[in-house]
Amino acid sequence: QEFDTEVAIIGGGGAGLAAAVSAHQNGAKVLLVEKMPNIGGNTIISGSAFNAVDPKRQSAQGIEDSVEKHFQQTYEGGDKKGDPELVRVLVENAYPTIEWLESLGMKFTDKVFTVLGALWPRSHKPVEPLGTGYVNTFMNYINEHKDDITVLTEVEAKELLVNADGAVTGFLAEGKNGKITVNAKNGVIIATGGFGANVEMRDQYNTIWPKLTNIKTTNHRGATGDGILMAEKINASIVQMENIQLLPMGDPETGSLSGNIEQGVENRIFVNAEGNRFVDEGARRDVMTRALMEQADSMMWVIVDQHSYPTGDTVNNFNETIDSLVKEGRAYKADTLEDLAKQIGVEPENLVKAVEAFNASVDGAKDEFGRTLFMDKLDTAPFYAGKRVPTVHHTMGGIKITPETRVVDQNGEIIKGLFAAGEVTGGIHGANRLGGNALADVHTFGRIAGATAATEGNE
Ligand code: ADP
Repeated sequence: QEFDTEVAIIGGGGAGLAAAVSAHQNGAKVLLVEKMPNIGGNTIISGSAFNAVDPKRQSAQGIEDSVEKHFQQTYEGGDKKGDPELVRVLVENAYPTIEWLESLGMKFTDKVFTVLGALWPRSHKPVEPLGTGYVNTFMNYINEHKDDITVLTEVEAKELLVNADGAVTGFLAEGKNGKITVNAKNGVIIATGGFGANVEMRDQYNTIWPKLTNIKTTNHRGATGDGILMAEKINASIVQMENIQLLPMGDPETGSLSGNIEQGVENRIFVNAEGNRFVDEGARRDVMTRALMEQADSMMWVIVDQHSYPTGDTVNNFNETIDSLVKEGRAYKADTLEDLAKQIGVEPENLVKAVEAFNASVDGAKDEFGRTLFMDKLDTAPFYAGKRVPTVHHTMGGIKITPETRVVDQNGEIIKGLFAAGEVTGGIHGANRLGGNALADVHTFGRIAGATAATEGNE
């Protein structure tokens, strides 16, 4: 089968779908292929937080912030290894991207919060659960413009097509019914996501963590780095592949984020198997994960109270009620900290002391671990605990792009007709990505990629 289009997109997660809508808004005919039976990728199963400096919501909550502060925290939070020019594009366009999503019908809650490892309260939360709000918003648009935007699922791109001038003109793929050729007049946008679910590839590039072979992942199983490998084959520059992000928040059985009982950074603490705190719970993700790896059995308990779950049917960020998690044995509930400690097998005296010290810090006492993000005390029953372990979450390395999302080759030259956006790209976040910056990244750069490919094409 052969398809002719203007802008072709590989991958139907947040970046690819944003690119599809944006390319169409900029006048192009679009074809998108997704290898899985369902679109959405890691985006649809993510915690959904989106960082942006927001003149409306943050000021209503009395939160001071600035684009410069978002820049500094992103750049320094990645050990200054990210490309400052790309970080600038990200932080300056994050809020306009929220407004763009809203213009497409997407709804965010009024309350801005601090997601794990975000370092600051600028994380936005969609009204719809997990990442479904993003995907539904794009699919509504796509379904309204079916004549011009084609989405093919269970079609896996295999190889980029390059003409005699070195410009990318399409790709070869494999679908349910055999081989497919896609010809794209304006070029191809790679939006295939990261390689967190590709254990071999993780092991090949990992130099910054102890061996990751047996660590599970939050990722969907299609996150295998295909786009990086396809681009590398035609000499694209691949950068910072060692920068793999782990979270201290994996489900002990599956590695997924589901079952996570934290509702934001301010109102929970972590304790180890002895019931002692061990880290600033508002710190960078890599810092918290390294600290967790040093604890007995690399496991910890997240402790929250009624402030996080005013009622038993209050849901976590993954749309699970706390009652259902307790019922399934994935969380524990008690009227006293002593009872909670007994249920989870930690020393009651230690847990009580840890909470007392934390509560004193909420009142302004100096925190033992240097924590600065606080809101409520942990002082109201019922108390809850949930077990968590390290898990592979995001791969910060990948295809090198320009601020316009054009792919750069190994000599620093632009590859005509080739664009990339989202987790498949490398070098934006550096050594550590702030929580809440991924969805800002994939949608911002996806939107730019669609516009660049539609308007400039392979010029
Ligand atoms: P991002 O957040 O960057 O958009 P996601 O993980 O959300 O990344 O989405 C990437 C999507 O690309 C996933 O749905 C994945 O299944 C898809 N994908 C990965 N490799 C291929 C491929 N070779 N052909 C088609 N789709 C692919």
